[in-house]
Parts: sequence; structure tokens; C-alpha cells
Amino acid sequence: MISIKSEEEIELLRIAGEITGSTHNYIKKYIKPGVTTLELDRLCEEYILSRGATPSFKGYDGFPGTVCASVNDEVVHGIPGNRVLKEGDIITLDIGACYKGYHGDSAWTYAVGEISDEKKYLMEHTEKSLFKGLAAIHDGCYVGDIGYAVSKYAKEHNLGVVRELVGHGVGTDVHEEPDVPNYGARHTGPILKEGMVIAVEPMLNLGTRKIYMLEDGWTIITADGKPSAHFEHTVLVTKDGYEILTRR
Ligand code: MG
Ligand code: MG
Repeated sequence: MISIKSEEEIELLRIAGEITGSTHNYIKKYIKPGVTTLELDRLCEEYILSRGATPSFKGYDGFPGTVCASVNDEVVHGIPGNRVLKEGDIITLDIGACYKGYHGDSAWTYAVGEISDEKKYLMEHTEKSLFKGLAAIHDGCYVGDIGYAVSKYAKEHNLGVVRELVGHGVGTDVHEEPDVPNYGARHTGPILKEGMVIAVEPMLNLGTRKIYMLEDGWTIITADGKPSAHFEHTVLVTKDGYEILTRR
């Protein structure tokens, strides 16, 4: 069952989303060579708590961090730690905030100082693929329409689409039904209705779409060691389109 949110719930999801988006705004000035991923994690946690919310991911299935901090060939679920960011890295921060029981979820990939043209290309087109996917959303669309739009764009730009990890519904649980894959065929999968809330989150790789998990049991990396980018917004399905809840 995909839940349709009430007006009251949507208001809380808007607040949770706003806090999530604002956490990105807040943290981006700290992303530079010399900072550790744990320092970024601490700053995000302090900010989320200062807004009267709690981190959605801390303790989720035992995840130790407030944010997922994934560098270069790390696709998702990087654990914040003593890794020092250096010039030319890219880092994805996946941030979730919970306000009065409702969640916001948004990932964004950032450049650390000057980065290579191929990393710029990867970031630019992964962000664009998110908006291609979002553009498919309206009352009555199919979940498959979103994945079709994302993967079509990714293929046109020669980027690998990660298939093992997918978007999802968002509400009182940060991961609700339905799954929202970044691949698929038009007019397939569940139908979305006005009042549903979903996270769309393409993860695109500069090389192969293949990935594997490190021995820490969390960090997912690309099989060929090439960089990966990840852009995610939580959105409300509306009659004619969508409303971004995690806007910054
Ligand atoms: Mg996320
Ligand atoms: Mg998500």
C-alpha cells in the first residue's frame, strides 16, 4: 500500500524537507580540502538538532553516522570517519531529517576544490537526470515512467545506472513503498496519485553500473573504481506535477 498523505502530514513533511534542504545549504561551505567526513557529519548533526529535528539515518539498521558520506568511487552509505577530503575529490552527502515523526531525504554530490572535467561531466548529468525523472511525475503517472526517463538520459550520456539501489516512498518511515528504480519501462509499476510522497535518487557511474559492498558492511563502491554521483529530492506528487519538499 502506498500511503496518500493528509494535509496535516504534508505540512510536517514540508518542514522535515525544508530542514533537510537547509542542512545541505548549511554544510556546503565546509566542504573543502582538509576537512574530514566525520567533521562534516558532526556539523550536520548539530544543525539538524538545532532545528528541532533528529537525523533520520543515525541508528537506522545500526548506521553509525548522521549522514552518509561517499567519496569518489563510493556510491552510497559511506560511513563518516577520519578520511580527509582532498582537492579534486567529489563527495556525496545523503542527509535525512525527521521532524515530529516525518522525514525528509536528500542526497547531493559536491566538488572538493577544483575537480576534473570528467567528474564535472558526471555531476552535471547526474543532477540533470534527477530532474528528467522528476519531470515524469504527476497524478496518474507510473513509477516506471520515472526510471525510464532517468535511464534514457543516463544512456544518452554514457553513464552507468546503478540498479541495486532505488528511490522510495517517504513518510513516517524514511523508506516506504513504493520502490522507485532508476530504470524501467513506461506505463509499468505502481500508479502515483496526488498526495503521495517519494524520493527520486539517481546514482550514476562514470563507468560500469556494477557495484559491490566493502567489508564494513555499508559502503557500496563501483566495481571499476570510477567515480559515482548521486542526486536526490523528496517530492510531493501533485495533480499536474510535483513539489520539491527538500528544496534548498
Ligand atoms: Mg537519501
Ligand atoms: Mg533515499
